[in-house]
This record gives sequence, structure tokens and C-alpha cells, in this order.
Amino acid sequence: MSNPAWSPASWRQLPIRQQPTYIDPEALAGVEAVLGRLPPLVFAEEARELQRQLAEVAAGRAFLLQGGDCAESFAQFAADHIRDTFKVILQMAVVLTYSGRRPVVKVGRIAGQFAKPRSADLEERDGEALPSYRGDIVNGIDFNEQQRRPDPQRLLTAYHQSAATLNLVRAFAQGGLADLHQVHQWNQSFVAANPLRDKYCEIGDRIQDALAFMEVCGVSSTTTPSIRETQFYTSHEALLLNYEQALTRRDSLSGDWYDCSAHMLWIGERTREPGGAHVEFFRGIHNPIGVKIGPACSEDELLRLIEALNPADNAGRLTLITRMGADNLAEKLPRLVRAVQREGRQVVWSSDPMHGNTVKAASGYKTRSFDRILRECQQFFAIHRAEGTHAGGIHLEMTGDHVTECTGGAYDISEADLASCYRTQCDPRLNGQQVLELAFRVSEFLSA
Ligand code: PEP
Ligand code: MN
Repeated sequence: MSNPAWSPASWRQLPIRQQPTYIDPEALAGVEAVLGRLPPLVFAEEARELQRQLAEVAAGRAFLLQGGDCAESFAQFAADHIRDTFKVILQMAVVLTYSGRRPVVKVGRIAGQFAKPRSADLEERDGEALPSYRGDIVNGIDFNEQQRRPDPQRLLTAYHQSAATLNLVRAFAQGGLADLHQVHQWNQSFVAANPLRDKYCEIGDRIQDALAFMEVCGVSSTTTPSIRETQFYTSHEALLLNYEQALTRRDSLSGDWYDCSAHMLWIGERTREPGGAHVEFFRGIHNPIGVKIGPACSEDELLRLIEALNPADNAGRLTLITRMGADNLAEKLPRLVRAVQREGRQVVWSSDPMHGNTVKAASGYKTRSFDRILRECQQFFAIHRAEGTHAGGIHLEMTGDHVTECTGGAYDISEADLASCYRTQCDPRLNGQQVLELAFRVSEFLSA
């Protein structure tokens, strides 16, 4: 360990941002103690396996697909929602694997993605000020005093919902739902019904041919488990450190500490300051980790973060998730990439094309346009190609449901359409159609 002073609780000595104020610290401590005795949600060896796969991404031999809700919700917790998100991620992965000719590492923003950073501690409506909604793990979304009061019991609800979600995801991944033939069939129906049909038919047909060829050669779901099963990992923003600490356990095999609330954790753009509590907590856990990098990040700050979080330069340990906005990327990304190259650091570069492209529609809905999301992805690939580095992955807010939260795409959702099915707890997500369309487009960049 690089610094012996680290402990799962050492973050408590440092300044911390974006935390709720609990009015009853004893109740909080009681819940933390309960959580500390509950079983871990993931096993350290799974996190190590994910890190090995991310090392392949860093080397340009695999691609990272990370996505899911902006925020999971207690009220919308349902098997269908989990299944549909899982299915669409698999569908995207098939397209990306085929075109990119490399394995796709699938990581959900799922089974723990509850806590949200907010721009203000208080929200004001009609002269009344209440604590901002910080995600279902903290408080309720309804604007009233009782709902908005941070409630420590919610940590336990989040844990149990995460456990049940993960249980279903594991069943889907191993139990037959992930069969490649079936996933391909879903894609065929997407292609058949899509206005951009001709564009996608070709790749759909080629995948069909490849599967038929493999079948003839005797490679089928019965002979080859990887055709029937998949690996699907979980991740979330480790924002609420009381929760993360309670699930941090020492692995009996390696003796190292792992945050067993998910396979991969990331630090948000608003809590990644070097010297702060989040960076302190993250430096001691051995999971693969991510950091969001926005347009204000300097080369120097980035290098300090890399040094703090991955001093031994372990491949696959650190994913830099850039979220600059389509208009900023060309100016901001190349200098960061060059700085990392100059220092010879191994990182996974991933693009979050969502968070730098959020706007408020005239109707008041927060939204993002498909075109800008696509443009940020496209530039991300072009910049890495020009710099000789690897565009390693994409990080999306998305759902398999037919929501209307982002504008554009083949069905051309307009600002006026947003009201018809706007369900997100927080930020606007690409719906199943939009996100598959994005996968087809990104697969062109991957194969170019
Ligand atoms: C998020 O991923 O939901 C988020 C809040 O992102 P960022 O930290 O990049 O703003
Ligand atoms: Mn978000």
C-alpha cells in the first residue's frame, strides 16, 4: 500500500462535498453498523477480473460499454425495467463487438446508482426552501418537508434493492437470456422497424452470416458457453461515503480492501478535488475505478489525480471518463491526452457524451440532443485517432424503456414530445431506440 495511513474511514478527516446533513447522527451510525454486518454485494475476485478486462481496454484490445439510469429509483424498481436495460446493453454490445472486432466489457450503471450530486444544497419553490433531492438513497423526490429530510433508513433500502437487482442481473447473464442468437434476433427487429433500416440492415445481415457460419462449424450455445452466457458488471458513483465505507471489506485472499458495493466505482466531476475526501477513499480501495473529467480540469490537476489514484500505474485500474460537451472536446481533450501520454500513464479513456450536453428546453424539461451526444462521441474517436491513443469506451445515461427524455434520433423526438413520457429521477436518458442507434453509429467509428 502506497500510504499506510489509509483506512476505510480515513476520508472522514478531510473536507467533503455533496453530502446530506442528517439530523440524527446516532441513527446514521446505527444504520452504518447494520450495513457493515450485511454481506458484500460483489466478490473481490470479480473486481479483479473486471480490472484485467479493463487492462485489455487500455491496450486497445477491448471496448468498454458502461450505461444505465442517471439515478435508480425506489418507486420504479421493477424486473421489467432491469431486464430491458440489460437487454439493450447486450444488443449494443453485439453490434460493437462485431464492428470493432474486439470484446466489449459490459458495465451497468445499476444495482447501486442512487446518490446524486446537486448544484445547490437547497431547492426553492414558491418562497419555500427545502433540501435538494440527492437521490433515493438520501431523501425523497417529492417537494415536501418530510420527503426531503435525509433519512438514514434509505441506505438499507438502497442496499436491499441493489442486492435484488444484482441477483436478477446475474441470473440474466448466466441463465440464457444473454444467448447471442437471441440478442441478435432482438437487433433484427430493431433494424426492421427503424427508419434508418437500410443503413443498419447490412451489419445485421453480416452478423447473421457470422452466426450461421459458426453454427455450421459446430460452434453453438451447447458447445461454447460464451455464446449463451455473458459477464455483466455493476458500477455507480461512490458519492455517499458513509454507505461505501460500510461495504468496504478486506479480501481474505489478497488482504486488500475492496468496496464491495459494486465491481467498479467512479468519482463524480464535483467531488474529485485532489486532497478531498473522495480521492482519499478511492485511493485505498482496490476495485477498478473511474473519474469524471469535465472541461475545467487542467493537465496538472489530471496528473495529480492519476498519481493519487494509481501511483503504481496498474493497467485497468483507472478509467478517465471525459464529459466535456460537444463544443469543448476539440479544445480540451487533446492537451489532456498528451499530458497523460507524456507521463507514460496507463489509463482507459472513456467518453461520457451526456453530462456536457444538458440543456433546458423551453418547456422546462432538462434534455439532451441525440446529435450533440453523437457529435461528442465522434470527436472523441477522432481525437484519440489523431493522438495515437485508444478511444476505450462510452459511458451513457440510458434505459431500455420507451421514454422521451432526449431529443432527436431516427424517430426525431421533438421538444414538444418530451412531456409524453418523461420519467427520469434526475438527468435525461437515451431511450432503447436512441441508444441502439448510437451503438450502430459508434460501431462505425470503431471499425473506421
Ligand atoms: C452522473 O454521472 O450522473 C454525474 C453526475 O456525472 P458528473 O459527475 O460527470 O457530473
Ligand atoms: Mn446524470
